[in-house]
Amino acid sequence: MNLPNNYTHTTTTKLPHLPQISNRTGPAPAAAAAQACAACKYQRRRCAPDCPLAPFFPADRTKEFVNAHKLFGVGNIVKILKKVPQHERQNAMGSVIFEANVRARDPVGVAIV
Ligand SMILES: [Zn+2]
Repeated sequence: MNLPNNYTHTTTTKLPHLPQISNRTGPAPAAAAAQACAACKYQRRRCAPDCPLAPFFPADRTKEFVNAHKLFGVGNIVKILKKVPQHERQNAMGSVIFEANVRARDPVGVAIV
């Protein structure tokens, strides 16, 4: 070590702290799991990007989903979605959710107008 005494090399103490980049190649991105729709969250499964229920039961609509699930069952809701043409799905699911909510509120009177 033959450095002069007054030589102060400040940069050596201040190495740029690189962010830790994990090289894990896990198949499940955390973001997708966090955005699971109410249906998938309720069933504790991964919400696929093409999840048929995601557009109608966003993550904050758990109650609506539970009502619809109790009345129709997930399998039947998916069946309805598959039968109904794309442009009418919003209306069909609106009816499903409406009926389920009304029946949850009043199991005897139901939504007969
Ligand atoms: Zn989903």
